[in-house]
Amino acid sequence: MSEANPIENFFFKDKEKIVTGTRVNTIIRGSMKRYLDRRGFLEINPVVISPISDPLNHPVDDPTIDYYGHRYRLTKSMIFHKQLALVHFDKIYSFSPNIRIEPLDRKSTGRHLAEFTQLDLEVKGADRRAVMALAEGMINDSIARVMRYIDGDKLNPDLRKYPRPFRSVKYLEALEEYGEDFEAKMSAEARDPFWIIDIPLQQREFYDREKDDETGILMDMDLIYPHGYGEAISGGEREFEFERILSRIIKKGQRQEDYALLLEASRKGISPSAGFGIGIERFVRFLTGSKNISEVVLFPKEIGKYVL
Ligand code: AMP
Ligand code: MG
Repeated sequence: MSEANPIENFFFKDKEKIVTGTRVNTIIRGSMKRYLDRRGFLEINPVVISPISDPLNHPVDDPTIDYYGHRYRLTKSMIFHKQLALVHFDKIYSFSPNIRIEPLDRKSTGRHLAEFTQLDLEVKGADRRAVMALAEGMINDSIARVMRYIDGDKLNPDLRKYPRPFRSVKYLEALEEYGEDFEAKMSAEARDPFWIIDIPLQQREFYDREKDDETGILMDMDLIYPHGYGEAISGGEREFEFERILSRIIKKGQRQEDYALLLEASRKGISPSAGFGIGIERFVRFLTGSKNISEVVLFPKEIGKYVL
């Protein structure tokens, strides 16, 4: 834990960077909201605490608070609430604050914070390709607006409207060609965003849907930014049937009782869906061509640091 004084750090922020970052943040939230509203989405309020949250696929502390005698978790993503929301709606999104006490080895990646915002969306009955197309259109639309309203010298010089559909590469093929560190290598080489699809089951959480024709491979995807900026989006089609969710929880070595509420909901009936989450601060980092995500966030929860 750094002993730095959080107030001193705050006053030392690069004003131009933080103002540009915050203006870009304002523009993209507006453009993404407009993009989705026009396509019939409803914005739902973020859930901040709940008995159930995303298990994630990497170790993070799971802080809980006492909620009238029940153990409540801080939201790590709204995945289960998105699936539940589709009991009443067809297309939803939320600007969802996530708390993830990330491991200290993520301190210097330039793209991890312990508190960040996802634009998290989910579409009833959609397949993976449909939400990939939605993401591509939304990203290009946000880029166009940012380039219209912000001076080019304050933006990533490589920014442009990217040809669609973005390229897709299967996870196992990427691994074979580039080795373990494929994501970083391919991102550094790329000039356009690209998708990694068909991610193996052990690499992901239990809720992404397993392919019917390929055991152990999921109907999911990550979007990777070019020029070395790394992951932008994760998403996929979801498991929604009780038996399949239960077997995936067991396969993953997760505790059934932690997901009893989801299992109960799936017994009552939740719908097939697909969706994704895009990290807002990471998008701002990419758009502004910033080295570190914390340069463009007013109150960055930097990994391992004592901050405001
Ligand atoms: P995930 O479902 O874990 O892939 O998270 C969804 C998206 O949120 C990612 O693709 C990133 O854009 C963003 N994200 C995830 N973790 C962090 C983090 N620690 N700091 C900033 N953004 C993050
Ligand atoms: Mg991810």
